[in-house]
Amino acid sequence: MRSKLVAGNWKMHGGTVQNRSLLTAILAETEGLNGTDVAVCVPYPYLPQAQSLLQGTHLSWGAQNLSQHEKGAYTGEVSAAMLVDFSCRYVIVGHSERRALYGEDSHTVALKFKAAQAAGLMPILCIGETLDQREAGITEHIVAEQLDAVTKLMGVNALVKSVLAYEPVWAIGTGKTATPDQAQEVHAFIRSRIAAYSPEVATGLKILYGGSVKANNAAELFARPDIDGGLIGGASLIADEFIAICCAAKNELILE
Ligand code: PEP
Repeated sequence: MRSKLVAGNWKMHGGTVQNRSLLTAILAETEGLNGTDVAVCVPYPYLPQAQSLLQGTHLSWGAQNLSQHEKGAYTGEVSAAMLVDFSCRYVIVGHSERRALYGEDSHTVALKFKAAQAAGLMPILCIGETLDQREAGITEHIVAEQLDAVTKLMGVNALVKSVLAYEPVWAIGTGKTATPDQAQEVHAFIRSRIAAYSPEVATGLKILYGGSVKANNAAELFARPDIDGGLIGGASLIADEFIAICCAAKNELILE
């Protein structure tokens, strides 16, 4: 049985004062969720704060992006080793906002995945289709292309030390969640594509759903057999919402 993971993506939000109260509340209220992992992916400047508040606790932390390069003249970039220096466990790669706003193509994302793993970080690889692509009936083709870029570069076994996040672009930050059936269908497709190369890797891999997950829809999504938790944007900034989402993951685990 796969354990669940709920990871917050704070995007470009936060401040030392709000972060402290948010993290303190999450820490206090998610302590008993054995079997459900909880993580926060914070903006780079707040990694030292996350580290100092969360070290030695049940919460993990990580970043939202990294450079594909190891070091060098890449002004403004942050390397995998720097994230490890702040004891990050996770790093998001290929978020749709990076793909759309910063021109990251699937090959670049695969290189970032590689750089993350080479440093011992657990990449959270985001894949997902736009509304136009869904309406054109090419959702599976798109997520397959995004996934295959990584498996072709790294081999399918590289997925063992990673997490996938299926995030339909049309559901991110829009308040429009994929229905549990829509999400489950794509998650099952992703898992079966990986199973064609390695059933063991497919069975063990956590596939999170992301896109307007809230306290009131999390349980239904997490109840689906191929949905192993969530990547949470907006709701991860509101303590009560995020805590309720974590509890929904825990409850699903008990029911399974
Ligand atoms: C995200 O940023 O990965 C995300 C899923 O955002 P939201 O939950 O706000 O849709």
